Amino acid sequence: MADYSRFMRQANLIGGEWVSADDGATIAVENPATGEVIGHVPKCGAAETYRAIAAAQRAFESYRETTANERSVMLRHLHDALMDHQQSLAELLTTEQGKPLAEAKGEIAIGAAYVLWYAEEIRRTYGEIVPSPVQDRRLLVTKHPTGVVGAITPWNFPSSMLARKLGPTLAAGCTVVVKPATVTPYSALAWGVLAEDAGFPAGAVNILTGSAREIGGEIMSNPLVKKVTFTGSTEVGKTLIRQSADTVKKISMELGGNAPFIVFDDADVDRAVEGAIASKFRNSGQTCVCTNRFYVQEGIYDAFLAKLKAATEALKVGNGLEDGTQQGPLIDTAAISKMEDLMKDAEAKGGRVVTGGKRHALGGQFYAPTIIAEANDIMQLTREEIFGPIAPIFKFNTEEEVIARANDTEFGLAAYAYTQDLGRAFRLNEKLEYGLIGINEGIITTVEAPFGGLKESGLGKEGGHQGIDDYLDTKYTAIGGLNL
Ligand code: ADP
Repeated sequence: MADYSRFMRQANLIGGEWVSADDGATIAVENPATGEVIGHVPKCGAAETYRAIAAAQRAFESYRETTANERSVMLRHLHDALMDHQQSLAELLTTEQGKPLAEAKGEIAIGAAYVLWYAEEIRRTYGEIVPSPVQDRRLLVTKHPTGVVGAITPWNFPSSMLARKLGPTLAAGCTVVVKPATVTPYSALAWGVLAEDAGFPAGAVNILTGSAREIGGEIMSNPLVKKVTFTGSTEVGKTLIRQSADTVKKISMELGGNAPFIVFDDADVDRAVEGAIASKFRNSGQTCVCTNRFYVQEGIYDAFLAKLKAATEALKVGNGLEDGTQQGPLIDTAAISKMEDLMKDAEAKGGRVVTGGKRHALGGQFYAPTIIAEANDIMQLTREEIFGPIAPIFKFNTEEEVIARANDTEFGLAAYAYTQDLGRAFRLNEKLEYGLIGINEGIITTVEAPFGGLKESGLGKEGGHQGIDDYLDTKYTAIGGLNL
């Protein structure tokens, strides 16, 4: 084991100081693989958040004056710090979150890649000089840092979801108050240490753990916070959108999904199975882009199912820190109960368990990787985000039918389809109402491309050149009387 003690802070970061909650209250953090308490973090509330926002505002006043180049250099230091400590940061992540160490290392690496991407992008956030309709005027369009950002993040990617927010925030010249998920606070607090190491000024990054309602409430009501970026459930996202109205904050929201994965008769079955395993079982099914519904065309249904069963049964379930583990525990006992409820409903409505369908023999928070065939549209798991290792398989007949069924949800985050027909690939691009579409690919997230959902899956993009826009204000300035 690497030594992650330097990164595992039991304190919050406000204005460059590592502090406790005002009343000394703490929250215990558990390892989901063992149930052991691994440490305690402060239970902060509105008062500490108010001070963190004030500190971020003070820091913003000087940080906004730095050049894009200066910020780019600090971001590159931040990238290097992450990669230099990839192993220990990944072990800390697995210890609090449960995912296999290989996935945790991948998460640290993609987080570092986001930071590097924004270190590069910020030097190219050009303004414009627009042709003027009046001879003696010149019209300028310029971009400026938005101000203090509130960032609220989930537990399924406790490090990289923050990278997607800290990268553009710090690149743009904004400062930030972060509220990570309560069950996985350490990977977020580690970013405070990394930001200090990389040379960001005190107050640029503030991190608070504690009551979501109190910290979130202060972030949403405080007029100094100009932008809020959130990744989490659609339900909480909708609350934050409502709360943002009073002070008219800019918002970006990465919310839930209900991803279809469509396998057409002409698909390469082995490739489809490989993509299915990756997109369904990564992080034990606990990602917002995980497949929720497999639609398989009649002619390939049996072949796909047989191969998917073999691949699913080959997954090694265990403690993420053990060598070779591919499936870790679920995040908490409520997640296990949710899997049990969904399966009970699906079986009662005619589903056939092909493999799994119950808790794993390891007990605790481990659930067996599951396939349920003969899935139908009245099952609860058709409409709800499963967020766990259950793969429901639906049969379909025509392209037109499957597109309609795939789109029959309020969500619009990720969709996947396997086909060798190029014309069909373009029809899917046009007709699937999803922000992210993988054709013959089960994992498509990359820093170079804009990640974000349509419909009730969210607002705004993370990554790509689009990802920085939400952190910059556009100003138009007309300069007249130039005697040209
Ligand atoms: P998940 O199911 O991924 O945990 P949540 O939406 O419940 O999704 O949580 C995502 C983040 O939002 C967490 O940091 C959580 O503490 C925070 N959160 C939950 N409720 C609120 C709220 N009312 N206001 C602000 N933040 C909240």
